[in-house]
Amino acid sequence: MAQNSARTAGRHFLQIPGPSPLPDRILRAMDTPIIDHRGPEFSKLAKRCLDGIKTIFKTTNPVIIYTATGTGAWEAALINTLNTGDRVLMVETGQFATLWKKMAENIGLKPEFIPTDWRTGADPKLIEAKLREDKKHEIKAVCVLHNETSTGALSPIAEIRKAIDAAGHPALFLVDTISSLASTDYRHDEWGVDVTVGGAQKGLMLPPGMSFNAVSDKAIAASKNSRLPKSFWSWEDMLNMNKVGFFPYTPATQMLHGLAEGIDMLHEEGLDNVFARHDRFAEATRRAVKAWGLEIMCKDAKYYSPTITAVMMPEGHNGDAFRAQALDTFNISYGASFGAYTGKYFRIGHLGDINDGYLVGALGITEMALAHAGIPHKKGGVQSAMDYIVSVHAGPKRAAAE
Ligand SMILES: *Cc1c(COP(=O)(O)O)cnc(C)c1O
Repeated sequence: MAQNSARTAGRHFLQIPGPSPLPDRILRAMDTPIIDHRGPEFSKLAKRCLDGIKTIFKTTNPVIIYTATGTGAWEAALINTLNTGDRVLMVETGQFATLWKKMAENIGLKPEFIPTDWRTGADPKLIEAKLREDKKHEIKAVCVLHNETSTGALSPIAEIRKAIDAAGHPALFLVDTISSLASTDYRHDEWGVDVTVGGAQKGLMLPPGMSFNAVSDKAIAASKNSRLPKSFWSWEDMLNMNKVGFFPYTPATQMLHGLAEGIDMLHEEGLDNVFARHDRFAEATRRAVKAWGLEIMCKDAKYYSPTITAVMMPEGHNGDAFRAQALDTFNISYGASFGAYTGKYFRIGHLGDINDGYLVGALGITEMALAHAGIPHKKGGVQSAMDYIVSVHAGPKRAAAE
């Protein structure tokens, strides 16, 4: 077993849905001397990041960059826009939605859940119905996860915007894109989102420790009337200092070097190509899972996630035991299971700086690990994934036989 030898050859397969594998280019961009964060070189770097990140959120408004994990940006989104006792409508898509709701409770808001069985995304119709019931407009914000990372369900943000408008409701619209941004299409301005929360370590391919709030004019206006206590997270100081190319405190300079490089890489590949690549990985993974005869946790194809696929374990087999054995034997990490489903599934992340070969490698390891762990399954999952990938690449331009 791998743990018995002093060295493990080759790279670890980091198949968790974030942090995603760190590209060498970003690692090298960060391997540079520290610069003065009040000096002219810094303001150039800050400008590159502050302008560049807008193109990823697809907004012309400011994007605030925090030295914090995604959880910090969640808190910033809530405490900059709301007031103690405000009702907040959320959808129980899974573990991350549950954590955001708990945070809202902790800071004195009154969140309420639209429940689900954790095997689907947020349904715009149910949100619209809840908002229509709220005749007095007591609900001040609707908070939705674009991608629920704990289960692998993507929610339709543009449709939820339409549902809020159809109900004629003035609530703010807050969206978590931590595990979808820069991996699948997202349009902060066009979709009328008021605060978009983002994180560095998933689609943006950075190490953990940086997160974002993209804000609308309506959100900035709401922040003027928000009385929840805030200091480090206050948008006001950030927006004022960012205007002149600086931060109110020492920012994570090396992370900004990495961010600038990551944004360049995304545009060099082309955002639409990045999104198509993730769609291809996700479909190839689902085909493998189906060929294995295993069940995908997300029950409804219209909510399938482009960045993570959760795989249900057959009755009598534990997902966490499977993960531990696969790590031990094949040097691969999968995502854990949560809540009422603890032990009942494992998650395959397929996001960030990976290619077809890497994905097929990960699926090949998974097929071996299933066999090795004695999990009942059919063979041929990897073949189905490869056939699908080849079919996507096949086309007149690429035909090699001439
Ligand atoms: C990873 C993740 C978070 C938490 O982010 P941290 O960086 O771990 O604080 C929140 N929401 C979603 C959807 C995530 O995927």
